Amino acid sequence: MADVRFHQVGKTYPPRRGGNPVEVLRQLDLHIEDGEFLVLVGPSGCGKSTLLRLLAGLEATTSGEIYVGDRPVSHLRPAQRDVAMVFQSYALYPHLSVADNIGFGLRRSRPRSLCEQLLDGIHRATRHLPPALRIPSERERRIERRIDEVAATLELEPLLERRPKELSGGQKQRVALGRAIARQPAVFLMDEPLSNLDAKLRTGTRAQIVELQRRLGTTTLYVTHDQVEAMTMGHRIAVLNEGRLQQLGTPMQLYQWPANLFVAQFIGSPAMNLLPVEVAGSGQLLLGGRRFPVEGPLEELLGEWTGHRITGGLRPEHLRLAPATNRNLAAEVSHCEALGNEQLITCRLLEGSHLVLVRAAPDQSVSVGQTVHLEVEPTGWRLFDGLGAALLPAEAVAAPRQEPQLPVIGQ
Ligand code: ADP
Repeated sequence: MADVRFHQVGKTYPPRRGGNPVEVLRQLDLHIEDGEFLVLVGPSGCGKSTLLRLLAGLEATTSGEIYVGDRPVSHLRPAQRDVAMVFQSYALYPHLSVADNIGFGLRRSRPRSLCEQLLDGIHRATRHLPPALRIPSERERRIERRIDEVAATLELEPLLERRPKELSGGQKQRVALGRAIARQPAVFLMDEPLSNLDAKLRTGTRAQIVELQRRLGTTTLYVTHDQVEAMTMGHRIAVLNEGRLQQLGTPMQLYQWPANLFVAQFIGSPAMNLLPVEVAGSGQLLLGGRRFPVEGPLEELLGEWTGHRITGGLRPEHLRLAPATNRNLAAEVSHCEALGNEQLITCRLLEGSHLVLVRAAPDQSVSVGQTVHLEVEPTGWRLFDGLGAALLPAEAVAAPRQEPQLPVIGQ
């Protein structure tokens, strides 16, 4: 087991066909703790896969260094780095059985002399004969035992002799996971491993990966664009944008106290509502000519911002349908989505005509075109300055560094 450290890592791809060089990562510092499950998210093209590929050794860094434990690995070949990668596309060898796919990395872990290779080959050729006729190789026996252990862990025993084309998507992904865990690497790298699976299978496999990681305690770097995976799988989430780390924290830290507008919009589905507000003094905001109280840790901070026009953020659950009062916001319903357990209502504020999204109970009856009144939860406000940086109370900035605690997978 080992921690992983990206130190000032830069990656620029060379220009193609007269174009410009593509600078994908810029002086990136990122520390993944030993045994941690870190989820990496960010918009398409922000450099997530590149980061994994740099650690796996499939791409070379342009600057900086990557450490696995105490070892700098940038100059090492992929096989020497003690990392195993699971790809979205499974990347199984089509001509090999499930057992041989799982054992592939084990068989390649050390160069073998011709004589040893011959012995291994004879072992494999005679392994289905009656015991008295088998010519065993100790190493092959060890590999077979390991394949059996891994197959038992991932419930692949009945499939060991099949070829990949005889497997479903979920089974293929379990074989790809099996190949990664068979080698007992220090680090797992997973690049959107569930995105080719259907929704039901994703949920099951998601729980299985989390359970496996918790049991093995292997440091894991997991790329996804799926909000549920990001929020439920990792000890911490790293948000990348344009090659820079935007925020690193536990899922709840990022959800509750996003460090900037980018994270506020990226984490959470549906996204946070953003509205132009003016600070009217300590604990008070002005929106559309009305005063709104701010309670909680931001209340005190507001005094020094009095008179500033900033951006106010409200999660959809911090707006409630309420009776008409002069403290509530009047809005016209423009769209309703009934999701069974809740409904998402898009409304246009009558003052300022901003669109906001509201989470409401499934039995609240609203119709398109209707005027509703929205009550704002005073502790729900999040505030961002003119450059998009969050106004963060001390408790959000100095959040205690928690020991990784795996969230319970609820779905
Ligand atoms: P993500 O995984 O976040 O979607 P990638 O790491 O795959 O992003 O890619 C980041 C950027 O680098 C993209 O703009 C992509 O086009 C570019 N890129 C990726 N691989 C190469 C390559 N081999 N050569 C040139 N540009 C590349």
